[in-house]
Order: sequence, then structure tokens, then C-alpha cells
Amino acid sequence: MNLKGKKIVVIGMGKTGIASARFLGSQGARVVAVDEKSPSQWGKKFGRIANKEWLETGAYNAGVLESASMVIPSPGVPPHNDILVAAIKLNIPVVSEIELAYRYLKVPVIAVTGTNGKTTTTSLLGEIMVRAGKKVFVGGNIGNPLIEYAETPQKDDFIVAEISSFQLQWIDKFRPFIAMLLNITCDHINYHGSFDEYRRIKARVFANQTSDDYAILNSEDREQDKLADIIRAKVAFFSSAAEVKRGIFLKGNALIYRNFDGGEEQYPLSMIKIPGLHNVENIMAAVLAARFCGCNRDSIIEAASNFSGLPHRIEFSGEKKGVRFYDDSKGTNVGSVVRALDTFPEPVILLLGGRDKDGDFDTLRELLIKKAKRVILFGEARDRISSLIGNDVPSEKKTTLAEAIASAYNNAISGDVVLLSPGCASFDEFKNYKERGNFFKNVVEKL
Ligand code: ADP
Repeated sequence: MNLKGKKIVVIGMGKTGIASARFLGSQGARVVAVDEKSPSQWGKKFGRIANKEWLETGAYNAGVLESASMVIPSPGVPPHNDILVAAIKLNIPVVSEIELAYRYLKVPVIAVTGTNGKTTTTSLLGEIMVRAGKKVFVGGNIGNPLIEYAETPQKDDFIVAEISSFQLQWIDKFRPFIAMLLNITCDHINYHGSFDEYRRIKARVFANQTSDDYAILNSEDREQDKLADIIRAKVAFFSSAAEVKRGIFLKGNALIYRNFDGGEEQYPLSMIKIPGLHNVENIMAAVLAARFCGCNRDSIIEAASNFSGLPHRIEFSGEKKGVRFYDDSKGTNVGSVVRALDTFPEPVILLLGGRDKDGDFDTLRELLIKKAKRVILFGEARDRISSLIGNDVPSEKKTTLAEAIASAYNNAISGDVVLLSPGCASFDEFKNYKERGNFFKNVVEKL
């Protein structure tokens, strides 16, 4: 791809946008940076490129597209954004950061996508690779943008990349050597417009694969049955409920890996230290990818045994008078709330709320009746959730998370679990899910 002298518009000056702009500048492009916020509010790192001769700031409207050769939207920019809509009309290619990076990558990519479990699976797979003696770059949504890697000497054996639906929206040639789709449940409807569209975009991760590549699918995910037939890569399934012909499944106290030649290999379930059946699924997906990359069984077992999970994902946050508190602040959609509730056999007092993403809270009703002792709704979404879960679930509404925690504690008795699994974004009250989770932990500590 020859970028010399080309005018390229980068929308969004957060971490990914700035990294893309820098890369484009290094390739001789003329970069026009735009953002809905004014330049004084752009990311800290913008200072490093602000005065480069190849960079100018542009107006945040379709006029900026004049004579542009390409548009790079940051992951947060929705497809209905005016500049993107205009670019499509004008036949100006719209390309995501991972697509741009892909054109320059020399190292095979393992793409991890799905509604939930991406970060957990990506991190674990990275750790398995290291233990197995592979050189690996772990990046994408999880932290370091792929485009930053594209500028390096690229000496690794593999790239493990967490890939969001926002990034998959604007790919063209992006072809991972292994693509895994962990699950698909309702999320980001306010961004993609509909669940069908969200699912269609997620499946794009397989679009450019060939029979030399691998696709990893969840055989318990209804939405994925339809995909196996259209995928050209070699398909392997993982299942926490039933045997699979090729792939990996849970049986009793073992994970059984069945390779493409019919050979079998077992992994003890006891190697898994993180809670919930959903994490068994994440780990099974990671095992498959690791085996396809030539990692050995012992390294996989060692890495899994040492993996204690990530903060804010059903993280134990303390015990007060026999009541145990768990921080699942990263549970920002209904699918993750379901799996968090399923993790606990005991009664759960659930803290649910925040900023709504048009979540399908009506689908939670039955499970809440079964599993929740009480639901405390808080934040902007409290009224909508309340109307969707109905009156059969014992619930109450509070304005803030602090009030919700206080009420949960007042209503709890020894043996209960208080679970913050909000099913919503955090931005109504907090900077991000981390701040929300840390706030929860601090308040719990002081109870
Ligand atoms: P992502 O990067 O996709 O957001 P994380 O690993 O950060 O995934 O986990 C986000 C939330 O989803 C947490 O609440 C976690 O407990 C939950 N979760 C993790 N894995 C799964 C899974 N396989 N299915 C459903 N929920 C999951």
C-alpha cells in the first residue's frame, strides 16, 4: 500500500487514532486529524505528533473528505457517523486500524473475538505461548494497537489480538491464521443498529480465511451453527455441554481435545482456577488455538494453572459479616450478567445499572426470579431495566452505585453474595469500568 503524499483522514484522537496517525505520517501520508472534541481535549499522546509537518487538524464534518484517499475511524466511531456515511457515498475507502496494520504485518495473527471473554482468553493465550517458548505480541483491543506493532521489526512467532466488532466493521483483507468467536449475545445495539447487524459484523473475522487457516467456534452458541457452513477455514468447536467431533469439550473432570486426525488428549479441569463455566469455555478456546500453534500440553497446563484471572471480572472483593462481595464491573452486557449469576450456587443480591446500551434486560427475567434474592437497580438505566424485568423480581431503585451498595449490605445476611455485574456501561457515573470496579471495592472495604 503506497501512502506517500496521500491525504488520509483519521477520525478520533484517542490512543488508536493517534497511533494510526503516527504510522501514516511515518509512511509519508498527509494526515488530517478530526474529532468531535476540540483539539485541546485530545489524548495526552497527541502532543507528540501535534507539530509534525505531515499533520493538520480538520473540521469535524464531511467537508474534510475533499481529495481524501482513505478514512480511518477509531473504534468508538459508529457507522452512522456523518463523515463515514459521506465517505462511503463518495467511494472513499474506510479502513479500520487493524486492517491498516494487517497490510504491514509479517507475523501470523490469532484473532480473538466474541461478545464476552475476549480479554480473558487473549491474556491466557498469550501466557500459554510464552510458557511454551513462543515469541508473541499480545495486542489489539487489550492494550497495544496492532498498528504500533507494524512499525517494529516484527520478530515474533505469533500475534494474539483481541478484536472488537468495531474493528471488524471496516476490514477488507484482514485474514487471521486463527480466528475464534467465543460467543455472540446482544451488545452494542446502539452502535450497530440491530442484533443481526452485530452478528454479521462479528462473523467477518472469518471472511478472508482459507483452508490453510483455523476457525474456532462455540458449539453451544446457537448463533454460530449457521456459520460453520460458510467458513472456508478448518473448523474446530469447543463445548462445555456435549462431545464434539473436532475440537475440545468438557466431560466430567477433564477437557478432552480431539484433533483433526481423531487423536485425543486430556486436560484436568482442576487446572482451571478462575470461576464459572464461561471461563472453562474461554480456556478451551485458548487450548485449541495454542495446540494449533504448536504449544505443548505441559505448557498449557502450567499456564492455565497459574492464571488467576483479571480484575473486575467476577473478582472477589472482600467479605463482611459472612457476606461475600464480587466485582464484575466489566460485565457490561446481559450475556455477561447471565454467566456471572450462573457462577454462584447461593442467593445473589445483584447490583445492576449504569448507562444503558439498549440491553435486552427482558431476557434476564426468568433467571433473576430463580437466582436473585434481590436486584438493586442504579444509575441512568434503572427505570428502563425495572420496566423490562417486571414485578416478579424483588427489586428496588437507587440513584448511585454507593447507595446501591449500602442497600445491598443492609439487605444481606451471612452466606449471601453481593455481585456488581451491572450489564451496562459505566459512563453515567464513572470514567470507565475500572473506576467503577475500584469504587465498589473501596466502598466494600469501608463497610
Ligand atoms: P471482553 O474483553 O470480551 O469484554 P472480558 O474477559 O473482559 O471480555 O470479560 C468481560 C465480562 O464478560 C466479565 O463480566 C466476564 O466475567 C464475562 N465473561 C468472560 N468470559 C465470558 C464468556 N465466555 N461468556 C460470557 N461472559 C463472559
